[in-house]
Amino acid sequence: MSSHQTENLTLHEKVKIMNRKETPMNEFPLMKVEKGNKVLFHPHIPKNANNYIAETLSTRWIGQGPKVDQFEIEYSKKFCNNFTTLAVGSGTDALHLAYLLAGLKPGDEVISALFTCTATNIPLLYMGVKIKFADVQSDTLNIDVNHVRELISDKTKAIVCVHYGGLPCDMDELHTIAREYNIPIIEDAAHAIGAEYKGQCIGSISDFTMFSFQAIKGITTGEGGMLAIKDSSLRHLGEKLRWFGIDRSAKQNGVWENDIVDIGYKYQMNDIAASMGLAALEEYDETLALRKSLFSHYVERLKDIDEIKVVGKGYTDRVHAGWMMTVLISRRKSLMETLRKFNVESGQVHYRNDRYSIFGSRTDGQFPNMDDVEDNYLVLPLHTKMTIDDVDYICDVIQRGW
Ligand SMILES: *Cc1c(COP(=O)(O)O)cnc(C)c1O
Repeated sequence: MSSHQTENLTLHEKVKIMNRKETPMNEFPLMKVEKGNKVLFHPHIPKNANNYIAETLSTRWIGQGPKVDQFEIEYSKKFCNNFTTLAVGSGTDALHLAYLLAGLKPGDEVISALFTCTATNIPLLYMGVKIKFADVQSDTLNIDVNHVRELISDKTKAIVCVHYGGLPCDMDELHTIAREYNIPIIEDAAHAIGAEYKGQCIGSISDFTMFSFQAIKGITTGEGGMLAIKDSSLRHLGEKLRWFGIDRSAKQNGVWENDIVDIGYKYQMNDIAASMGLAALEEYDETLALRKSLFSHYVERLKDIDEIKVVGKGYTDRVHAGWMMTVLISRRKSLMETLRKFNVESGQVHYRNDRYSIFGSRTDGQFPNMDDVEDNYLVLPLHTKMTIDDVDYICDVIQRGW
């Protein structure tokens, strides 16, 4: 289409056309879970999930009850250095709560990750917050601290970072900036359950850390999420916002005595989901060890292939949670087709968020690192149904060329 033909199109239509250079999804339909197929993702269902859920179903509480309380406490002990934790219905709920508890207001500016699940940024739009996207680092696809520095101003009210694939961002550098401007850091740790940064667990470092327990995440509760909060005095407000703004602990004295002063949401986790979460926590050390071993086997096998770079490898001051294996390659579509021929599913998973109309105008040249990798990143299978042999099989296919 020549440029004069696109002149009269709306921004939304233009973005759609620009996106056409991406391989249409229907060329690579979802792969069936059948013998021999190497699917991209698979949920991890813990050994004790069925028993724990059945036990909960036999009690009086299936909504938010004692299992949610227990899951919050045990999760915090394991990952959040006993920070106060709020279990919610999804990771997106947790992020929205974090943004509310951080006191963000319409018109405030937030610096956030460009390359992530849209769920990181959509709750900011609920609140009328102005998003300033920061570019990626080429080797990790995490937020580029140098660009954060360029974007920050007195109007900036928070920094949101995403630990892409499971590798923690440059937290020391981000915290240095945040301290200078006295603003909170909100970590999207949806990919990073069990990741560590300089000996500290992700979940125990920043003002707010969000985890997702959506179907394919490191821990799943079907749908679910957790928000770890450094300042425990925010817990009470967080609990209220999670449940319509109602103070569930206040005595009602037989009549409705307590007013609702904050408009809240229906964001709580239920006890059925929490039971599954408890079963997942029990065996998470094993889950994580398996994921890490698959990740490092990929790294080992791919290290001598010049045309491939593994995203986020080689950092010794932080621990990768091995949630996702992403490579940078050229001729992506060709590699996807080759992998498909050998029954291996691959995909992009996330797209740069500035491509979506809801985030406003797309500005060329503002994100040179993202522009460079945009057509070159590809996610390979990594999940707990896989073995080291599966990684070998996939790497053999790649090694033969595409
Ligand atoms: C999965 C995911 C979310 C959203 O979590 P939900 O539980 O699906 O709401 C947010 N951010 C990232 C980076 C994710 O991968």
